[in-house]
Amino acid sequence: MLRAAALLLAALAPLAAQDVWLGDSLARLGFANPTPARPGEERLARAKGSPALVEAARDSDTILVDGIRVSLNAPLGLRPMRLPTGPAVPRLTVSRGDYDKTLAPLLWSAPPEARRPRRILIDPGHGGKDPGKQSKELRMDEKYLTLDTARRLAALLRDAGFEVHLTREKDVFVELEDRAKRAAAVKADLFVSLHYNAAAAPSASGIETYCLTPAGQFSTNDPSNRGATAALPGNRHDALNVRAAYQVQRALVTRLEARDRGVRRARFSMLKDLSCPGLLVEGGFMSNRSEMLRLSQESHRQRIAAAIAEGIAAYAGALPR
Ligand SMILES: [Zn+2]
Repeated sequence: MLRAAALLLAALAPLAAQDVWLGDSLARLGFANPTPARPGEERLARAKGSPALVEAARDSDTILVDGIRVSLNAPLGLRPMRLPTGPAVPRLTVSRGDYDKTLAPLLWSAPPEARRPRRILIDPGHGGKDPGKQSKELRMDEKYLTLDTARRLAALLRDAGFEVHLTREKDVFVELEDRAKRAAAVKADLFVSLHYNAAAAPSASGIETYCLTPAGQFSTNDPSNRGATAALPGNRHDALNVRAAYQVQRALVTRLEARDRGVRRARFSMLKDLSCPGLLVEGGFMSNRSEMLRLSQESHRQRIAAAIAEGIAAYAGALPR
């Protein structure tokens, strides 16, 4: 009751300039306006086009796109919307930045200049003097897991007709900046960095895929919201970055039946200066005992590689030749 009263009082206040109505915005992309089951939760669907379903809840900083979690820069709001007739109704709002940089690229057509990628640069994380995360119990380093996954992914992508390069072919150290420079050197159309995760809490599990944070927004891995927000060279590819990251996360979560930790945003060194769209996969937690047991198996790493290849194919297939 209190919430309903507060909403009515707020009915006179205009929508903040940096926000847009979620339902109205998605209606332009073919989604039917929501009829919320309860205030603060909206489910928007369209009959044609993929993705076809968006689920959103007030105060949440993630949104579900065809059931896959996608992080937002600002939490969704709930405001009273005036209708031509009848009383104001509470409806969700989304920040303009999240609409422009996340929802529109994912739900609308690609930028007109975008072309189907042909040449892919795979970046196995760490190497040489830098082992990355380590599993003491199974005596396995992240640098080994990423290189093994990269080789499997490379074979699958070559079979699918892509030209594939790797930032390292063996157990050697490569500077982070040199990994991004390599993308320009080989004229890559897509950069795919492979990593495995670790956390202090042994229960943490699941898969997350990162792409570069848009200019003016805070990164998902910056909970203090104090980091720099300036535009970076890699931001030229914002629309394709999120499309590629989404398709890879979607394939991984679906194929591996893994916990979905979402498409996330970060200004990682190897993503900042990329000359092409790029993403970074965290394919599971080495600090989680059961997840690490799976990661230690070749068959599981083959499934991870196959899912990433499927995601890349889905991303590529939606772009014109
Ligand atoms: Zn790593």
